[in-house]
Amino acid sequence: MIVDVITIFPEMFESPMRASILGNARMKGVLELRVHDLRDWTHDRHRTTDDVPYGGGPGMVMKPEPLFAAIESIQSMPGPRGTVVILTPAGAPFSQTVAGDLASRERLILVCGRYEGIDERVFSLADLELSIGDFVLTGGELPAMVVIDAVTRLLPGVLGDDESSVEESFTQGLLEYPHYTRPASFRGMVVPDVLRSGDHQRIAAWRREQALAKTAARRPDLLLQADLAPDERLRYAHLFDPQPTANRGNE
Ligand code: SAM
Repeated sequence: MIVDVITIFPEMFESPMRASILGNARMKGVLELRVHDLRDWTHDRHRTTDDVPYGGGPGMVMKPEPLFAAIESIQSMPGPRGTVVILTPAGAPFSQTVAGDLASRERLILVCGRYEGIDERVFSLADLELSIGDFVLTGGELPAMVVIDAVTRLLPGVLGDDESSVEESFTQGLLEYPHYTRPASFRGMVVPDVLRSGDHQRIAAWRREQALAKTAARRPDLLLQADLAPDERLRYAHLFDPQPTANRGNE
């Protein structure tokens, strides 16, 4: 997959995008990351990318001309045209499902905002607007890295074992079951016997039950949409069935 990033802080990507699994994915050629400095598409002496907002108010707004020029020139480079993704707090929530969808694209063009945000006209070039959560960061660089990380680890051949992303949180609509490693007993906390039983069927059943219980306790909203067996749905029926309306007498 090719990922182009447009930013005024290309240096922010250097270390995080070189380490560990992402670094390996790049070395293997599974991920081709190209970080572009938006200032390369400016034409004035100060390489200006922002200007004051029409209508007044605080802060600066990212100018449309360099962004249009950058996106269009990257799209005209050899290879697939690319899916243009603008990172913005007003975007659709980024999720594991969206990551899976993006992982099937051949090329992504990620646009990082700064200041008060991006001139509204630039959004006419976006195929997708994404938010990584209901909070405001100083720029789109960290959100872009979050997207790149979540998408890259879903690309075939990136994780050591292609199965290892299959059972993770969100993948099956549930939070993941707990993990343990050695020692079997640590500070009085003991690894559940079933995990040491060698009985794979019991282990799978225990993990499923743990995932269901954790999701019900922490994210019941996820459970309502998860793919549950009829007996599981019955066990968590209290989450599905609205409370019977109390008898309000003669209203
Ligand atoms: N004034 C904007 C607003 O209220 O929505 C916030 C602008 S923010 C300070 C600057 C840039 O950071 C945005 O253009 C966007 O690219 C990025 N950004 C900040 N928070 C984000 C989030 N939760 N998800 C995605 N991008 C975000």
